[in-house]
Parts: sequence; C-alpha cells; structure tokens
Amino acid sequence: MQNKLIITVAPTGSVPKKEKTPHVPVTTEEIVEDALKCEQVGASILHIHTRDEQQNPSDAPERFAEVVGALKGRTRLILQVSTGGRAGVGLESRLQRLSAGSEMASLTTGSVNFPNSAYVNPPDLVAALATEMKRLAIKPEVEVFDFSMLHNAIDLVRSGILQPPMHVNFVMGLKGAMPARIEHLTHLVGFLPKGSTWCVSGVAAAQLPMAVHAILMGGHVRVGLEDNIYYRKGELATNAQLVERIVRISTELGREIATTDEARQLLSLTSLESKNL
Ligand code: MG
Repeated sequence: MQNKLIITVAPTGSVPKKEKTPHVPVTTEEIVEDALKCEQVGASILHIHTRDEQQNPSDAPERFAEVVGALKGRTRLILQVSTGGRAGVGLESRLQRLSAGSEMASLTTGSVNFPNSAYVNPPDLVAALATEMKRLAIKPEVEVFDFSMLHNAIDLVRSGILQPPMHVNFVMGLKGAMPARIEHLTHLVGFLPKGSTWCVSGVAAAQLPMAVHAILMGGHVRVGLEDNIYYRKGELATNAQLVERIVRISTELGREIATTDEARQLLSLTSLESKNL
C-alpha cells in the first residue's frame, strides 16, 4: 500500500472550554457525536481526553472507559486514550486508563514545561506506562515535545520496553517546548528508526503549516481543537472542518487519505484488532 495519509483528530484536549469556543466537545455524548462526524469526513484516529462537570480535565479512568465504551460498535475509528496528566496526577490513574479498551494510547517519553505548568514524566513512570501498554497489546503513540524525548523512546526500544515499529507524534509550537519549524521537523524525522511512522501536531497557528509539511514529507497529521481552535485568524473551527481541510489539501497534493483499516495496517495494528474490537 502506498503511504496514504492518516489523520488523527484531537477534539477536546485539556484546555479549551465552551466559553472559548462553543465547538469543543466536552461531554461523552458530544465527544462521540463529534468523533463520528470526523470519521465520516476522513479521520482515522481519535485522541481522547475527558472533562468533568465543570469542563476541567478529568483524570478519572471511568470517564475514559465511558467514552471508549460509548464509541465501540459505532465506529471504526482507532481509539487512542491520552495518558497525560497535570502535575500531581498519580501514576495509578494514568495506568488505569489503559484498561478502557483502546487500541492505542499516548506515551510522553520525558518532561517539559507547558506555558503555565510543568508536564512531569519521570523515567520510572514512562517505563511503567510503556510496560503496561506492551502487556495489554496497546500501541503507544510516542508524544515528542522535545528532542530528548525521541532519544528516550529509542532507548526504550533498545531495552525491549517499547515494541517497534514506533509511531511518534511531534508536538510543535507549544510555548515552552519545540518551536514549529520545518528544519526542526526534518532533523527529528532524520533520527527515527527505520520502519517508524510519524505524525505532527502543530499548535495554534502552526497547525496548518506543519500539517502541510507532514503531508509533503510522508508523515501523518493531527488536527483538532486540543491543539488549535481556529480555522483561520479570528474564525473558530469545528473539528470536522479541520479534518476536511486536511483531506482537501492532501488530495490536491496527490496523497490519498487512509481509511481506518488502512491506518491500522500502516501502524501495524492489525494483529491487535481482534483483541480490542
Ligand atoms: Mg493530548
């Protein structure tokens, strides 16, 4: 199969609330409805965060299980739970989300400063999450906010904790982490072990340009309100609109969009599917 484009949608994240954009899905029903729309227009992977009644990020494993459970049987989307946690969120709650029944989960392989907080992922926590993903046959999406995190992930592969081929998401343009620049992206991609797949999440105004770079370079793309709430300056986007725009641009550039099952093949998920769906 040619290298078709895998589109991930990250519809919710931890930050935007309804006051900021009415389009952000925060309840289970809203997340499910939005996910199904995004699947219809071309997304293959759903990156899942959950919120509590006040729209604040929820760390409760039950919330993740609820979203995954509500989607199963209604979608072919590849479900990917976030194992991220704000400072103070314990390993236990982050590990328990892996029991929600998703095919993938995010794995941040180091620590970084966010604009107003530290995102802390010490080596023992990273190893514990990775080990549990391996045990449950969940494919990690390695979240790389900084160059060191790519090398940490390569070390985890060498030590047998991470199973190759890796799938890596480069998060670029978040204040405190890597700037969204094509030369940084080229450099990072050059260090990926052979056979790896990769994706870019450009933050805010960097979402579209970084996505276009990724399409042209043979990588994959993540869009969604977690990373960017605007369609263009001053105009709020819906998640489906952001997915549709990537479909249009990639198609114009001659790169076809992967179906959900083609994405499974590209990510070597096929062997896991029977367990999870
Ligand atoms: Mg996330």
